[in-house]
Amino acid sequence: MKISVIGAGYVGCVTGICLAELGHDVFLIDVDSEKLEAIRAGKCPVFEPGLNDLLAKNHRKIRTTPDVSEAIQETELTLICVGTPQNGDGSIDLRYVIHAAQSIGRALRSKNNYHTIVVKSTVLPGTTENVLLPVLERESGKRAPQDFGIATNPEFLKEGSAVQDFFHTDRIIIGAQNQKTTIVLEELYKPLNAPVFSTDIKTAEMIKYVSNAFLATKISFANEVGNMCKAAGIDTSEVFKGVGMDTRINPHFFRSGIGFGGSCFPKDILALIHFAELLGIDPKILKATIEINDSQPLKMISLLKKHVNIKGRKIGVLGLAFKPGTDDIRESRAFPIILQLIEEGAEVLAYDPLAMPAFSAIMPGIQYACSAQEVVNTGIVVIVTEWEEFEDLDYNGKLVIDGRRIRKAQNEAAIYEGICW
Ligand code: NAD
Repeated sequence: MKISVIGAGYVGCVTGICLAELGHDVFLIDVDSEKLEAIRAGKCPVFEPGLNDLLAKNHRKIRTTPDVSEAIQETELTLICVGTPQNGDGSIDLRYVIHAAQSIGRALRSKNNYHTIVVKSTVLPGTTENVLLPVLERESGKRAPQDFGIATNPEFLKEGSAVQDFFHTDRIIIGAQNQKTTIVLEELYKPLNAPVFSTDIKTAEMIKYVSNAFLATKISFANEVGNMCKAAGIDTSEVFKGVGMDTRINPHFFRSGIGFGGSCFPKDILALIHFAELLGIDPKILKATIEINDSQPLKMISLLKKHVNIKGRKIGVLGLAFKPGTDDIRESRAFPIILQLIEEGAEVLAYDPLAMPAFSAIMPGIQYACSAQEVVNTGIVVIVTEWEEFEDLDYNGKLVIDGRRIRKAQNEAAIYEGICW
């Protein structure tokens, strides 16, 4: 098929390039010309293991343009993959998806062939039908489903293993307005041979939020239990190993630590809270999930202060990305930890194998090390991200406060405290 992808960020790049690998012809569109330039030069603007190789392998099937209208004319299906960040009050900011819908609608005005529009961006139930569809119909002067197809197809990739997730997804969720559109999407993903669940549009939108909310709640629950275990002298990881063996529960996303970050969980949970409140429902579990997640990273500072007076001391921070395998720092737990260290008068020396350029652009006032060992050599270390290379450092004689359970640090450090163990 001939596909256009609007938004060449994490989701757009992974989806577009992987669809090219499945044999489709892909147009990647972005308002950011640097991203398009990078793709043309054979380098993905986002880091994902394996993605640059797939780009190189499929470069003849992948084109780029800033011009939505050109891409719509030359393709039969468009995936909207632009960001849906949060507003100051936690509600969802729809300006990018609305802008994308406006450009698609305008382009459809002069297109004669049938076109299918698919919302992959995470949007609250009702958004596709009540916000985006009216924009598309107004701008195009056409009506769905007779003149164009509309669907939502939420994305479930995990940054750091997104290529792997694309080709081995647990399920494909299709929320379409009619059967014809469902069939187009089934055709698109057919080579994946993955389980497909088809439903209506707003149910598909809700499935995405409920999935993220459940996973985030699982993490906050694990952290609450982890805090109890630490106080009671019980090894939380042993507890979750035992609990996770129950097939009704399963062991994934069931570890205590410093909480979740990233571009999705925090903003999606806040958006769902906002959505519930608009419906007159007080979402107590979701609120507690956020509350636990906000307080958990600061426990690292309390543990540190048990052993050392941090005022005026140089503290090493290992890891800035919100998780290993990515350069993404959005909502990384490193932010509250470093801000608190600075607030309490410490000097910070930080290191991350991938995320330092992005982090230093936002936080230029701290020092950045050339290697992870340089950070450990400060003598006082806080571990924020579980990069594999942190298992190869020499922690002998050091004070380590660990948010992620790095075994070598646990075995070697002179003083070692795990956040929940
Ligand atoms: P991102 O910020 O990495 O990428 C979005 C891209 O869209 C940017 O490159 C931006 O320049 C571009 N853009 C914005 N407006 C545009 C427009 N009008 N026309 C063309 N390009 C435009 O975002 P992301 O992480 O890829 O997330 C995209 C969506 O997917 C969000 O709704 C997010 O919640 C959802 N999602 C993300 C992940 C993830 O792990 N990142 C996983 C599942 C779902």
